[in-house]
Amino acid sequence: MQNIQEFIDLGLSEKSLAAIQAKGFETPTEIQKRCIPVLLSGHGDLIGQAQTGTGKTAAFALPILENLDSMPKAEKTGLPKALVLVPTRELCIQVCEEIHSLAQGRPVRTTSIYGGASYNIQFRDLKAGVDIVVGTPGRIQDHIERETLKLDQIKVCVLDEADEMLDMGFIEDIENILSKMPEDHQTLCFSATMPDPILKLASRFMKDYELIRVQTEDMTSTLTKQIFYELYEEDKFEVLCRTIDMDPNFYGLVFCKTKLQCDEIGSKLISGGYNAEVLHGDLSQTQRELIVHKMREHRISILVATDVAARGIDIPELTHVINYCIPEDPETYIHRVGRTGRAGKEGLAVTFITPREFRKLAFIKRIAKSEIEKRRIPSVEEIIAVKKKTLLDDLLKMIGEAEQGHCPDSMFSLAKLLGEGHHTTNIIAALLNDKYGRLVDLSRYRNVADLYDQRDQRPQSPRAERRQRPERRHKSEFVKTTKPEKMSERRSKGKRKANTSRFKALGK
Ligand code: ADP
Ligand code: MG
Repeated sequence: MQNIQEFIDLGLSEKSLAAIQAKGFETPTEIQKRCIPVLLSGHGDLIGQAQTGTGKTAAFALPILENLDSMPKAEKTGLPKALVLVPTRELCIQVCEEIHSLAQGRPVRTTSIYGGASYNIQFRDLKAGVDIVVGTPGRIQDHIERETLKLDQIKVCVLDEADEMLDMGFIEDIENILSKMPEDHQTLCFSATMPDPILKLASRFMKDYELIRVQTEDMTSTLTKQIFYELYEEDKFEVLCRTIDMDPNFYGLVFCKTKLQCDEIGSKLISGGYNAEVLHGDLSQTQRELIVHKMREHRISILVATDVAARGIDIPELTHVINYCIPEDPETYIHRVGRTGRAGKEGLAVTFITPREFRKLAFIKRIAKSEIEKRRIPSVEEIIAVKKKTLLDDLLKMIGEAEQGHCPDSMFSLAKLLGEGHHTTNIIAALLNDKYGRLVDLSRYRNVADLYDQRDQRPQSPRAERRQRPERRHKSEFVKTTKPEKMSERRSKGKRKANTSRFKALGK
């Protein structure tokens, strides 16, 4: 590894370098280069902002591990020294795994504490002693109330996806959790986006803090090509199928606004023969873990998700992110699009917009500083051409294998028998039609209206949009939408005692 020197220059120890090497990291990312030395040298608070997929977890985890190493033995009491708060269970597992892998070779104990998982295991882990806890605010709060988690020894608290943590109804839990830590603990906030009001709010929790912003011109990954299609709501599902069919290696996330919509789109995809699953907050914890796991292992290739469920999840090598519904705000756009184009792999982000959402898209473009290119919806002819090309490649590969003897003799004798009575082209066509006829069947696709050429510069009024709507060939497939899935809805229902503001108690 030629660039390990760059990690050495950041001041990391042999143990960290070995773990980094085992993970296959070659060079530190910009946020790592800038945060690690600061966190290793000082004790100050810090806000780190960098686009998604740039290794923010390692940027805070490596210094935490180094600081644990240098802690005097007497202080190693078994009570947690670091607490990382994250907004969702999936992220909790993911961040804990990342820290765990960076901690290999060290006697450091990490555990994840999130709602929906067994209390007993969590009681046992906490009782046995743990150095780093990664948790969701609700369950952490529960353990504090049960006195099964003590924060008296916390040296550092990280708010990961900090803007979301401070924005979506967690604030009360966060305040309360922070108030249980020693006064002089260090607070670190990490996120891809940090809107000003949230930044202000964060500064209430923090002492003098350093702000490290890695802001590329384009806030989304430069490896992600961003495009949009302008279409009518009722054409979205058809266009989704076309977008998927255009890439034989499609492996992507489809973002919907609501749980209901996720279920609808997911089941339509599944009944259309696509290898898809749905991920949202109504599923049980076990189901959700299983689905993310299946996706990571490529046993499914399409995940239909809400923003809340998919936030921060790192599924490597996604080829596509599809915004089936336009995101509510530029921050959400950045987070969604950031799921692809990670770790050096190219990705395509496709946003579907209806005519009345054009203005919203322009706003997103401006704030997210993203070039989102207008494109034509893939035509049926283009898709069929792609499918034929893939089919041809696959067939040639199969023929090559047969020629090398990877085909039973019985098949050769059958082929000879057929060849005696019929023309080879006819035989092949019949077999292909039987096996792949449906794949290249044009009638699978229905007409859609591509609004690519329709727009003059002014956004249309909804009434004008209705007037212009062409006759549909098929029944409308209009998708019902309900309220977006909110983080607050997903929090465990039970008791959540109203807690009077602890800011005063914190003295911050
Ligand atoms: P973020 O929190 O910024 O969205 P993550 O911490 O989830 O990003 O990291 C995204 C992926 O990049 C993870 O799989 C992680 O292991 C990997 N990664 C982190 N740092 C590096 C690095 N320096 N080189 C290569 N891959 C890295
Ligand atoms: Mg992250």
